[in-house]
Amino acid sequence: MSDMKKTVTCKYCSAEYPEELANCPYCGNANFYGQEKIYMQRMSQIRKRLASLAYIDKKIILKEILKIAGITAAVIAVIIAVIFTIISIDKNNYSKQINEMRGNIINEIQ
Ligand SMILES: [Zn+2]
Repeated sequence: MSDMKKTVTCKYCSAEYPEELANCPYCGNANFYGQEKIYMQRMSQIRKRLASLAYIDKKIILKEILKIAGITAAVIAVIIAVIFTIISIDKNNYSKQINEMRGNIINEIQ
């Protein structure tokens, strides 16, 4: 398989080497095809990193939204509990007042 790899001939020292190398392994001069390939690979790595950063940002935003939703739900639950407590206290007071009035009426009758 390695025989099938494409090679280039260095235009500075005439040595043959695999075309994906960025530099001639013999004289060190640049191989533009190899350099372009490495550049494109680095670009795609940078793109992947940027994409993963965007993914992390989305995760953080989702976490914050869930946190705020949780806090909001807790606050609403407390408010509902307070309202129900007030209503039940009012009910108790109301039935106490009715019982007092009933007692008064019974006393007046007797
Ligand atoms: Zn060379």
